[in-house]
Parts: sequence; C-alpha cells; structure tokens
Amino acid sequence: MRQIKLATLRALKGAGVFRLVADSTWRRDRLLILCYHGTSLEDEHLWRPALYLEANRFEQRLQILKRDGYSVLPLAEGLQRLRLGTLPPRSVALTFDDGTYDFYRQAYPLLKQFGFPATVYLTTYYMDCELPVFSLVTSYMLWKRRGVVISDGQELGLASSLDLRTEAGRHRVVLELLTVAEREDMSGRQKDELARKLALFLKVDYDALVAKRLLQIMNRRELEEIVGDGIDVQLHTHRHRTPEDEERFRREIRDNRERIRDVAGSDPVHFCYPSGVYRAQFFDWLAAERIVSATTCDAGLVSRNSPSMLIPRYIDNQNRETIDVESWLSGVGDLLAYRRAAAQQYVPRETES
Ligand SMILES: [Zn+2]
Repeated sequence: MRQIKLATLRALKGAGVFRLVADSTWRRDRLLILCYHGTSLEDEHLWRPALYLEANRFEQRLQILKRDGYSVLPLAEGLQRLRLGTLPPRSVALTFDDGTYDFYRQAYPLLKQFGFPATVYLTTYYMDCELPVFSLVTSYMLWKRRGVVISDGQELGLASSLDLRTEAGRHRVVLELLTVAEREDMSGRQKDELARKLALFLKVDYDALVAKRLLQIMNRRELEEIVGDGIDVQLHTHRHRTPEDEERFRREIRDNRERIRDVAGSDPVHFCYPSGVYRAQFFDWLAAERIVSATTCDAGLVSRNSPSMLIPRYIDNQNRETIDVESWLSGVGDLLAYRRAAAQQYVPRETES
C-alpha cells in the first residue's frame, strides 16, 4: 500500500501535478501548518520516529521550502491572512510542540540561518528545573534496555516481571510508574528520584542523560534568547494534560499562560492540544480563556472554513518520505488524504517494526 502510494506520488510529481496544485488558487487560499516535536540529539528518532527526526533531515525540509518558493509565515499572520484572503502563494507555517532543548540547540539555529519564523507550543512545568520529562525519560530508558524481561520489578514497587521486549510491554511499565508517582503525589524532584532509581535498576547512566539535556524542556535563559530573536511562544498547557473538568482544564491554560507571559513578555492566545487530544466541550472553555486558535494533529491544509478550535496540521517526522512531505506542501497530499484524524489516545504498537 505504502509502495503504491509512493509510486503514485512520484508519477504525479513527474507529470507536473505537484507544481500545478501548488500554484492553484485552491492552494493559495490555504495554509499548511507543519508540526514538529523534536530533532534528535542522539537516537531519539529510533525510539519515537513519530515524534522525532534527525536534524539533517529537518535541514533538508527547510531546503525544500526555500528551493520550491514556499512562503513561510508566522502562525498568527498566516491565520489572519487566511481569514482576510490575502495569503501569498504556497503559504506555510512552522510549529514545534513542547519546547524541548533540542529545539534551542538544533532547530532554532537552522531556522535562523534560513530566516524562517516559527512558533513553539511550550509546556511549562519543566522550564525551571532542567530535569528530563518523567514520562519520556522512563520510556526512553526502558527502550534502551529493550529486548529483555526483568524479573525483579518489585524492587521499584512495580509488577514483579517487566517485559521490555515490545513497545506495549514498555508502555505498561511507564503507566505503572506514572500511577506510582500519582498515587504518592510526587513532586517533580521526587519523580526525578524515581527515574534515577529506574536508571540504576536498568544500568543506564542517568547523569549522562541529564548532562546531555536529553528529553528536557528549554530553560528560562534559552527561552528568553529565542524570544528575543523573534521565535513565537504559545500555549500547550502547563503540565501537558487536558483534564475533563472545566476548572482544572482552564487552570492548565492560565498556569501555562502566566509562565509564558513571564518569560516572553507577551500574551499567548494560540493553543495546541497536548498529544492531539480534543473533546467538544474544550472549545467553549478555550474561548472563555480568550484562545484565538487551537491546533490538532489531524492532517489537513487549513482553509477559511476550518473551525478555529480545530485547526489541522501536517506532522513531519522520521517516518516521512521526502516525496510525501512535498505532496503535502504542494497540496496534493491533502487532496489524496484518506485518513485525517489523529489517534485520540496513545496506543503503543504490540511488536517491533
Ligand atoms: Zn506536546
């Protein structure tokens, strides 16, 4: 299926269809928002190819944008000009979810070099502590020890047998660790102690991970620097979660906004759903918090008819073939898309691919 699709795309490109669509009035009335998470500092793209891509691949994407004459706009300007009908040809906006350190270290210098504007949807809980994100670093360390079954898990307060052979098995361990942390109402520091214990248990060098800033959020100094350089910082909730309770949901937005305002000096009004998860009841809560737009992980070009609380994006990552990315930039990918909705819940694959 994948091979057929790629062959079709190549044939369409060869026949000049990509260029035709990219220059059409249909495409001109649309904005493509690209969604990135991280660029690998090391091997993160092998661990989570759907979230990461290699930095040199990211650079290739920027070269394509430049080579093929795409108009890279700041997110807010792109959305506004879409409503006004004044978009330039081949409009694109670049967004980065979470605000991890690798953005500062790798993506941001490249963006600067190309002169492209970008938005970071920042989750703020970790910005003042320079610690790896607990749910990510535990998953990453378990992946580092993939392939084995560990039989003395109870030492960590977990089930006796930890099956690290499959993504699903490792995910179960992460969920157990999260449950322990939640049950004991652990602070960030305490969760870090638990991650450190897990590292010791798995014989992974935790200090080395921390020193390399793997799976960390940018700190205040780094955020101030990128903001000073024109990077736009917007909302992604404080704790990377969207509670089903209105008061708790809105507190996530307010806590997030307060910290972004503090570090960026501006009032963020654009939001991105953590993990791409949304519910109909969120729309009114977001509007009550003066949110102007909310982006999803559902695939699509944004048109004037896109609901402002359901703005689609195209997720780029290590799994994407260049021709697939080019098809979406041109608009062909959107025309051919047969599946648009992102999974509304993280479901790990049962087997290694
Ligand atoms: Zn996120």
